[in-house]
Amino acid sequence: MPLHLYAFNVELKPVEVVPGDVFLLKVITDKNPASSDFPTAEFAGKKIDFYQDTDNHFIALVPVDIDTSPKKHIITVTSGEKEKIIRIRVKPYKFLTKKITLPEEKVILGPEDLKRAEREAGLLKSFFSQNTARAWDGRFITPTDTPVSEVFGVKRIMNGEKTSVHGGMDYKGETGTPIKAVNSGRVVLKDELFFGGNTLIIDHGMGLFSVYMHLSEFRVSKDEKILKGQIIGLAGMTGRATGPHLHLGVKLQGINVNPLSLFKLDL
Ligand SMILES: [Zn+2]
Repeated sequence: MPLHLYAFNVELKPVEVVPGDVFLLKVITDKNPASSDFPTAEFAGKKIDFYQDTDNHFIALVPVDIDTSPKKHIITVTSGEKEKIIRIRVKPYKFLTKKITLPEEKVILGPEDLKRAEREAGLLKSFFSQNTARAWDGRFITPTDTPVSEVFGVKRIMNGEKTSVHGGMDYKGETGTPIKAVNSGRVVLKDELFFGGNTLIIDHGMGLFSVYMHLSEFRVSKDEKILKGQIIGLAGMTGRATGPHLHLGVKLQGINVNPLSLFKLDL
């Protein structure tokens, strides 16, 4: 049996994260490995999918689920017959809890609305499990320069009963504020949804998607290929929004991650 002894290096960025963050893992082998020897790894019990960026460069964007236990996690990277062990520290983080009082009809949905919301949640889920070729290019950028009004991970308790975790981040934005694509990709959804109102989803490849909600207007069409920084729509307050703002969500392999951690990544 032939031995495939590829020497390789592993780069981890950043070396410390908090739950909800995304990190980058890069494997550089000393020669082009056979496809059977492409690197594999696992983080927090989940397989890491590497993407062949160039001949001997493999990259993976890895989500740290908000429920990941804070500790030093071991990542074993294997390529060919060799393995390397690296450690990533998941630091504890206390997400804010907010108590909100709303009219009861805004908290409890009627049967029709509930049906629609559930149907749309299923539709969104089907997109986020897709894994297409990399379309993003370099660092991610913020969709608008307006201030952030609500950060990622805030736990909301509505009328003392229903709780929800804020799965994205909100930017202030008067109706008509131009919204930019955070990176290059393709529009996979352009629709009017119950919670999100006018919503766009951009597939950036490698299982990474950005989601833009409550828009007043769309400036792109479905299936359109778009470039980083392109104006894709205008902020508004369509759907379940109490005022005009942009809700930006980032999904990585079906998991909500903090858009800020993606913007900070030196890609
Ligand atoms: Zn939001």
